[in-house]
Amino acid sequence: MTRMKVGGFADSRMGPFYLLAEETVCLDTSFFDQMDRKLGEGGDFAYAYVIAHEAGHHIQKLTGKTDFVHSKKGRISEIEYNRLSVRLELQADFYAGVWAHHDNENYRREHGVNRLEPGDVQEAMNSAKAIGDDTLQKNAGQRVQPETFNHGTSEQRMRWFNRGLRTGDINQGDTFSMPYNQL
Ligand SMILES: [Zn+2]
Repeated sequence: MTRMKVGGFADSRMGPFYLLAEETVCLDTSFFDQMDRKLGEGGDFAYAYVIAHEAGHHIQKLTGKTDFVHSKKGRISEIEYNRLSVRLELQADFYAGVWAHHDNENYRREHGVNRLEPGDVQEAMNSAKAIGDDTLQKNAGQRVQPETFNHGTSEQRMRWFNRGLRTGDINQGDTFSMPYNQL
């Protein structure tokens, strides 16, 4: 069994990311300060969501999805490669939703109440939205260009997170088989 590591960070402009070569989730704590200040998204669950998304990338390393996508680099068009990246990112969002589902179940078993409060999911959704490529591009004053997305639109990210949250079933997250325009 491989263990997911959590480590330090390289550059405060990068935010959290998954360092493939070392199978490590890197968390830049100033990113969370930025979330508070710039995006107006505080809240524990929003942080947990961002971390769970990165942990989702670790799962993809273990299942071979990441290596599959990377193996296509340079062998397919840039647009096609971007689309594969979107599929990867949406699956990481889905896994974050699956985690949230089970975390809440465990908590409820132990404490008899839900850990997730009604506002929590919306908060995480807002973070996904704030981090979604279309929002990032708009904030940068650019025209939104779907062909350059590599995380998926905010709407797609919310949909896949919600699917994970609703089902809690890791097998419902196949973002690779369906036609791209149905993601
Ligand atoms: Zn990601």
